[in-house]
Amino acid sequence: MNFDSILIRYGEMAIKGKNRKYFERKLQDNLIKKLSQQFKHTRVRKQRDRMYVLLNGEDPHKVMQECQKVFGIHTLSFAVKVEKEEQAIKDAALYAFQDDPEAGTFKVSSRRADKSFPIGSQDLNYRVGGHILAHTEGVTVDVHQPDVEIKIEVRNDAAYITAQDYPGAGGFPVGTSGQSLLLLSGGIDSPVAGYLMMKRGVQLEAIHFHSPPFTSERAKQKVFDLTRELAKYGHRINVHVVPFTELQQKIHQQIPEGYSMTVMRRMMMRISEKIAEARGILSMTTGESLGQVASQTMESMNTINEVTNFPILRPLAAMDKLDIIDISKKINTYTISTLPYEDCCTIFVPKAPKTKPTRTNANYYESNVDFTEEINHAVNGTQIVEIKADEKVENEFEDLF
Ligand code: ATP
Ligand code: MG
Repeated sequence: MNFDSILIRYGEMAIKGKNRKYFERKLQDNLIKKLSQQFKHTRVRKQRDRMYVLLNGEDPHKVMQECQKVFGIHTLSFAVKVEKEEQAIKDAALYAFQDDPEAGTFKVSSRRADKSFPIGSQDLNYRVGGHILAHTEGVTVDVHQPDVEIKIEVRNDAAYITAQDYPGAGGFPVGTSGQSLLLLSGGIDSPVAGYLMMKRGVQLEAIHFHSPPFTSERAKQKVFDLTRELAKYGHRINVHVVPFTELQQKIHQQIPEGYSMTVMRRMMMRISEKIAEARGILSMTTGESLGQVASQTMESMNTINEVTNFPILRPLAAMDKLDIIDISKKINTYTISTLPYEDCCTIFVPKAPKTKPTRTNANYYESNVDFTEEINHAVNGTQIVEIKADEKVENEFEDLF
């Protein structure tokens, strides 16, 4: 025996009323994109308020693992389809139950849509329950809080049996909440910020400010590797790599040290806004968290924010560092983020950045220097690299360590 399909239930999406059709279509699309490369035989079908992934012989647990990364899914269960025949149903129920070797208690809930099926629901619960008790050890029935609820649906075409609920990734299907441009450094925070936005249904593009030769190719590769991890939740992500050296050097030379960090961030925002606008993207996302470092005070955010009126989403603003680290470990970005390669900010970082910059001062210092040409160079020299989830990580660079 084997599982035929994976039943997909979507919790939070279901409350979205009129948008529901759109959400379902996106979820179906995202599932197809996620599975079609790796598991060529799978098919995704919608049926009333749920979806099924038909396995067609693909490995059930491997497919399940991939489905668990798709946002917009509340829970998932394996399903077995059998003939409407008592023994077949019993065997399938036992098989489905045994998928979870830890389960100590269960209950059986049957529904008989096909009223011509000769056994009533209660009676079927009882008979199937008896079969499971007879073929397991140390297992008991608990109708109130069972470890596993075995559900049997006797429909016109066949009987369908599901057991254990696997947790889905939650959130909304990627693409249902618009797009955002993620400012992605090589650090711990920005990939987590990107993940959280994707979970809310946002399709990301990423932007990275790169300052060769002060920052190496490896620092850039690190950003691609981080993007690849994020792409696992949303198929593919474009990374805009901005040549930032010229601007950074000019800032370094012309802006008082205490304000160089603030002005650099303002430049990043100006360039990000231009690129977002050109791509039809309506917001930016950063990994800023209040009070984490000198550049992330309320004053600093206010001063940086002055240069754009696009929304800047800061999903980590109120989060503790340890919680951010927990998420980064869960999404496999932590080990990449903690590789030692420097990023552009650590190199030009002033010894004592102003923790309480003001708009007035920032404007004053900027007004003494004309950055137009450097900003245009940066925007025009930006390269777009498309990162796909399923491409293997190529380390093109010699190992220096
Ligand atoms: P992270 O862990 O994401 O690097 P951080 O705690 O180091 O964040 P900062 O260095 O102050 O904080 O950066 C704040 C935010 O600015 C980052 O989360 C990121 O969104 C953005 N950022 C910083 N450096 C770059 C860069 N080189 N390219 C793109 N975005 C950047
Ligand atoms: Mg950083």
